[in-house]
Amino acid sequence: MVVPLGSIGPLYLDYNATSPLAPGVLEAMLPFLREEYHNPSSASEAARPIRQAVEVARRGVAELVGARQPNQIVFTSGGTESIHAAFHMALATGNERRKIVLSSVEHSASKGAAQTWQERGYEVLALPVDSQGLPHLDLLEETLAASPVALVSWILANNETGVVLPDPQDFAERVHRHGARLHVDAVQAPGKLPLHAQDWQVDWLSVSGHKFGAPKGVGALYERVPSPSSPWLQGGGQESGRRGGTENVASVVGLGAAALRAHLQANDPTFLSQWEALRDRLEQTVLEAIPGAGIHGQAAQRVPNTTFLSIPGQPAELLLPLLEGEGLLCSAGSACDANHWAPSPVLLALGVPPEVAAGSLRLSLGPQTNQVEIDRAAEILIRVFRWLAQGA
Ligand code: PLP
Repeated sequence: MVVPLGSIGPLYLDYNATSPLAPGVLEAMLPFLREEYHNPSSASEAARPIRQAVEVARRGVAELVGARQPNQIVFTSGGTESIHAAFHMALATGNERRKIVLSSVEHSASKGAAQTWQERGYEVLALPVDSQGLPHLDLLEETLAASPVALVSWILANNETGVVLPDPQDFAERVHRHGARLHVDAVQAPGKLPLHAQDWQVDWLSVSGHKFGAPKGVGALYERVPSPSSPWLQGGGQESGRRGGTENVASVVGLGAAALRAHLQANDPTFLSQWEALRDRLEQTVLEAIPGAGIHGQAAQRVPNTTFLSIPGQPAELLLPLLEGEGLLCSAGSACDANHWAPSPVLLALGVPPEVAAGSLRLSLGPQTNQVEIDRAAEILIRVFRWLAQGA
């Protein structure tokens, strides 16, 4: 049996960093790690069930992201690869437009992809956002009108604040009106809000399994128009010629199983509002007990599981190990930045002063997080804060 991490040992409130396997995912994967080992590209009869399992998973992911057809889904090794692949699809085919636009609150995977193409001669522009992390649509339009843009890449749900891009369809229309194409980093969205890639008319959309109960090292890219002519990994023609390399079958099957769960969850308003109520309870308790505490992005629509709290006067660098010592695992922002203690670039982009950004903690709930755990988390946080404040 897979036991959700939050229910044993340390209290895990860092689901935006990664999640344990969702119920049923390991069981779905196991046959493909044991007896069902054949290569899905093999012509043998024995490989047929493996191929079928990969296609079932593709349908699951297609449903999750709101694709029109399963062939719009390509399996990848995770969010970072999906994002780099989208940039490749948009830019590698001799695009005459030489400009890339992204927000100043992107994940380092998107910033890294943009930098790669900057080094290949593209101009990269990171647009400022407002104090909640939302786009200035006038500025976007001005930028798109000023000179031809090849690709706009924008985060759908921010990994640190949880702030959601309000109207992806309208955003995509604005981008397309100026002849540019749109990639959306939806890595933090599955299971938290309904996804409608096809209706939104985004050109590419990236997801990553380990953020919603699938294993690490597997993800997917949605392509509005599947483009076999331009694989970003040249190889054996897998994934309809779009991504060479034998599929990671067990993980792909796990991704498909987790996608079905996440799809149901994201389309269950009762579940989503209960989840949000738990998050709000945590926030309210902390705000009432810690003078001057605040919530980044509170005025915007956020995914229901995420809160980014500012704790006055106490650097996260000090707080995090103490909280862990008391049994609460959370983070100071992007997990990828866990080893350097510079203030979060996302918060700085929101105009948050560096000393406030340095004292900010992200707590992100999982689908099984319950009220007892939320109350325990608030109690630990408040106790550690008071202990530090007394010593100051
Ligand atoms: N984009 C966002 C918003 C993320 O939160 C992450 C992971 O933290 C990524 C991209 C990268 O995903 P992966 O870890 O699967 O490469």
